[in-house]
Amino acid sequence: MVDLVHRPGEMREKVLDIAEPEGFGNAVIGVKQGSNVHIDVRLESLHDGILVSGTVDVDAEGECVRCLTDVSLPVEVEFQELFAYSEDEAFDYTVHEDHVDLEPVVRDAVVLALPFQPVCQADCLGLCPQCGVRLLDNPGHQHEAPVDPRWAALAGLDAEVPQDDTEKR
Ligand SMILES: [Zn+2]
Ligand SMILES: [Zn+2]
Repeated sequence: MVDLVHRPGEMREKVLDIAEPEGFGNAVIGVKQGSNVHIDVRLESLHDGILVSGTVDVDAEGECVRCLTDVSLPVEVEFQELFAYSEDEAFDYTVHEDHVDLEPVVRDAVVLALPFQPVCQADCLGLCPQCGVRLLDNPGHQHEAPVDPRWAALAGLDAEVPQDDTEKR
């Protein structure tokens, strides 16, 4: 990066593959520690800083909010930030000792792209509310209609009626 600092007009492109050091995400889906984070980045030297733009590709992992099976979701998102030379508070990011720290920029871009309601597939039917089986795996799954408690008493009586074929004509 030294060759870019304070040399407006200079530009560099890099491809980075980084193992995510910590893991991040929202409550239901995120990038796990050790996941490969692929970054295509372009660094452009401007008068007041380094303009960093690029694309990040990573797989986010979580659970389907309907059926709770594991979901792996490819995320591809673009980012662009100016890393200023000035330490002025007006800038969110600054160049420190000839370096730019891409990590928070990439993390924020990915987090914003994550869904809050990830699903395994758009038409996921969720789980059976009675027994919990995954309905997509069990087409046509259903239970017999629950017996009305008033009739349940009669059903019990039924069993006690002696079976006698001769009773009927
Ligand atoms: Zn699902
Ligand atoms: Zn069921």
